[in-house]
Amino acid sequence: MKKRNLLTVLSTIVLSASIVIPASAAGNHPGTPEQQTYNSSGFTNYAQLGKKLKKIERTSNGKVDVSVAGHSNSGRNIYQARVGDGDRVIMIESEIHGNEKTGTEALLNILQHLGSSNSPQVQKIREEITLVALPKMNPDASELERRGNDMTWAEVVKNFPQLANSDGPTWNYYTGTLQGDQYADKPGFDVNRDFNPDLDYVPQADDIPGASDDPGWFITPEAQTVRDVYKGLKQEFGKVDVFVDLHHQGLYYVDGTDEPVTLSLSGQFVPHPSSEEGQEYAEYTDTYNYEFSKQLNVAAYDALQSMGKSPFDNITLYSQGLDLPGTALGSFALNGSGTVLFEVTGQTQSMGQKKKGMLVKAVETGLNGIIKGVAEGTVQNLDADRYYEIPETSYSPGI
Ligand SMILES: [Zn+2]
Repeated sequence: MKKRNLLTVLSTIVLSASIVIPASAAGNHPGTPEQQTYNSSGFTNYAQLGKKLKKIERTSNGKVDVSVAGHSNSGRNIYQARVGDGDRVIMIESEIHGNEKTGTEALLNILQHLGSSNSPQVQKIREEITLVALPKMNPDASELERRGNDMTWAEVVKNFPQLANSDGPTWNYYTGTLQGDQYADKPGFDVNRDFNPDLDYVPQADDIPGASDDPGWFITPEAQTVRDVYKGLKQEFGKVDVFVDLHHQGLYYVDGTDEPVTLSLSGQFVPHPSSEEGQEYAEYTDTYNYEFSKQLNVAAYDALQSMGKSPFDNITLYSQGLDLPGTALGSFALNGSGTVLFEVTGQTQSMGQKKKGMLVKAVETGLNGIIKGVAEGTVQNLDADRYYEIPETSYSPGI
C-alpha cells in the first residue's frame, strides 16, 4: 500500500494509537499498530498522585501550587500543579488516555525538580515561565486502565437535554464490544476527540460529530476541565504559549530500518488554515502558529539527541497530514498555542522497570528541552525547517 493512503487511513482513526483500535478501524490493515498489553505496575495511581503532589507542594516552600481544576465524571479530582511566575505559559497534560502513563511520571519528576532546586538555571526557569501541569487529566480511565473515560450517553443527555433527540451518541463513544469487552459494563468516550477549536462551543443536536475530522462537543467533564484551565490561562496571560500532550503508541520502526521507535514527536494536527485543505479553519489563520510548533518539536528533538545513545535515539516524527480538530492539540493549536505531541512506544508487556524508567527519562528530557528553550528564549531562534529532518516513522513494518 502506498504510504499516502496509509497515512490517510491512519489520520482518520488514530492519534496516539494505543491499546486497542476502535472496531470501525480494526482489521488486518498493515498500518494498524500492534496491540499493547499495558502493565501498569510501577506507575503512579490516582491515590498516590494526590499524595505525591501534596508532598511536592509542601517541600517546595510555596514554589509549587497544587489545586483541583475539576472533577471526572465519577467525581475524582483532576489535579493541576503550577510552578513559576513568568509570563510565558507552558501547559502540559498527561493520561488523557488512561493507559498511557509515562508522561505522568515525567511530570512529577519535573515538578519536583523545578519546585526544589535553587540552581541559577532553575531559578531562571521559574522567573521566565509559568508551568501548568495536568498530570492525570482522565483519572477514571487511569483507574480502569483504559483509553476512554467512564460515562454513558444517557449521562451526556442528562447534562445536555437539548441532545435528547439527536442522532447520538457521538462517534467516539465506546460501548458493547467496541474496544473489546472492557466497555461493555462501563461505556465511555475518547476524551481526546471531545475538544472544539471554538472554546465556547455548546453542543447542539443537529451537528453531532460523526468522524475524526469533525470537531468535538465538550461533552465530557474531563475535556471541559482542560478547556476551562486553558481559557483561564488565556484570560490571565493573554495566551497559552505552549501546549504539550503526552501519549503512548504501538510498536513502530524508524522508517527504512528495523530499529524500534522510542518516541515520536509531532506539531501537526490540523491542516494549515491558510491551505486549501484547511479552509474550514480559516478564521484561525492569524492565531495558528505552525512555525513555533515546529521549533518546539526541534527543541525537544535536540534535547533527546544530545543525550546520546539508547534510549534517547530512535526519535521519529509521528504521522503527518492529520485533520483532528477534536483533539486537545488540534483545538489549542488553532487557538494560537505552539503544540507538541509525545508518543512513547507502548509495547510494555515485556518491559522491565529499567526500560520503563528509561522511557520516563526520555519524556522528561524532551520536555526539559522545551521548558529550557522557552525560558531562555532560544526556541524562536531554531530553524523550524529542521522539523522535517526528524526521521519518519514506518507505520507498516515488513511491507
Ligand atoms: Zn493517547
